[in-house]
This record gives sequence, C-alpha cells and structure tokens, in this order.
Amino acid sequence: MGASNKQEKKFPDGMVPLGKKTFSFACHAQVSCWLTCCRNVDMFLYPYDIILLKNHLQIRSDEFLERYVKVVRGPNPSFPSLMMQMNGVNACPFLGPEGCTVYEDRPSACRMYPLERAVDRTATKGRPEEFYFLTNHPYCKGHQEEKNWTVKEWLRDQKLMIHNSQADRWAEMDTMFAANPWAGEGAAGPRQKLAFLVCYNIDGFRDYMRDKNILADFKLPANRVRSIEQDDLSLLSFGYDWLQLVLTGAPTLKRRKR
Ligand code: SF4
Ligand code: SF4
Repeated sequence: MGASNKQEKKFPDGMVPLGKKTFSFACHAQVSCWLTCCRNVDMFLYPYDIILLKNHLQIRSDEFLERYVKVVRGPNPSFPSLMMQMNGVNACPFLGPEGCTVYEDRPSACRMYPLERAVDRTATKGRPEEFYFLTNHPYCKGHQEEKNWTVKEWLRDQKLMIHNSQADRWAEMDTMFAANPWAGEGAAGPRQKLAFLVCYNIDGFRDYMRDKNILADFKLPANRVRSIEQDDLSLLSFGYDWLQLVLTGAPTLKRRKR
C-alpha cells in the first residue's frame, strides 16, 4: 500500500505505471483498424529517428529535413522541435499499401505505442527511474487482441533499448537548451543554429567538422576518431559532448594544445 501511494503521487490523475503487470496487445494486418494510426498523426521526430530514417532512405539529413519534416515550436520554448510532415492525403509519407515502408527503421514513437515512457531524473543517487504507462486510443483495436506482454518483453520485441538510451541523451541536451545557453543571441542566433545542425542535420554537421577541422582540436582515442568519421551515431555523441563544452563549459572533451 505504501509503495503504491508513493508511485501514484508522482503522476497525474489516471496515470498508473504498469510496473511488472502485463498488458494485452497485438497489431497485424487482420485488425479492423489496420494502419489507422499512420494517418493524421502528430509525430515528433528526435535526432536518432532522423539518422535511422535518412540512412534507410539513403539520402542526406538535409534532404530528409527538406522533404519530410516540419520545424515547430514544441514543448521547449528555447529550441525548435521537429515533426513528421504528413503527405497530401494526410498520411505518414512512409505509409505504403502494405504498411510501413521503413518498418525496421521506424521512429521510436511508432515502436513505443501502446506504451508511454516517463523518466524521473530527480533521484539523488543511482540511475534515473523509468516508468511505463499503457495508452489506449479508442480507435485502436489492438488492445482487444489476446497476446500478453510485460513491458520488458515489449521493449525487446520493438528493439527499443537503443532508442531509450538515445532518448535519455537527448533529454540531457534538451534540458541544457531549455536553460537558454545562447549567450544572449536568442533564438536562431549562431549558437542555436549550430545546435540545430548537430542535433538534426548530422550530414551538415559532418561537413562543418571537416571544414573547420574540429577533431584536431581535441585529444581523442584513435578508435573514437575512426568511429566518429565513419558512423553517424558516434558523430552525434561527439556533437552532444562538443555542444555541452561550447555552450556551458562542461568538461566533456579535452582540448589539444595547438
Ligand atoms: S513511420 Fe511507419 S509505422 Fe510510423 S507512422 Fe509512418 S508508416 Fe506508420
Ligand atoms: S490503430 Fe492500433 S491495432 Fe490498429 S494498426 Fe494502429 S497500432 Fe495497430
């Protein structure tokens, strides 16, 4: 009883964490609502989503932004958010006649449903605590299916572990941006443009790094340099460290004397 009261206090009315309880859900081509949720959807996209999708499509991130994304003012007033741009018939641009055409690289929001994740980062010791909630849109008939899942099974099935670790890293950056680290330049000043480049346009950031020879400024192990040069996710991780150093002075990277 004490433990349950403690959990209920942390969340708004009606939101009860699933904990170890199971939930029933299945989504397949025989449900009557098949693909309803891929139409007219408000879907935020995050840095890792952009990398997966643009690599799936074998295009550059700037082209991806141009073709599939709208930049919006989201929950963070100090930094723009990105949303998937619906197509002319108000459907996700990756919805094909048979279903999702980017399924193995679909965004985290598509994988997570019907769960929602919240992270309590206020813990004074140990790791931040994560909670999962069951969402239930009335049009979604998947909840009436008989297959049962634990949260752990769902996360494994949807390959959400790396998405969640990327979401946690992104949350650190978003919190830093919310503190308005733009040195008085305001929105759309040079610092914010640089942060946008790192977070949302990884191929543009790679060009910028090469032009300015940024890697030469830092002491980095050879294997990390190789990985940054070859892999978008490693470059994003370096970019986050670099932004933390440049915007707040956090000692995330060691400068080389030149
Ligand atoms: S990415 Fe795929 S699963 Fe997600 S909304 Fe678009 S079509 Fe549906
Ligand atoms: S509405 Fe629910 S069951 Fe129907 S296709 Fe979407 S996720 Fe699957």
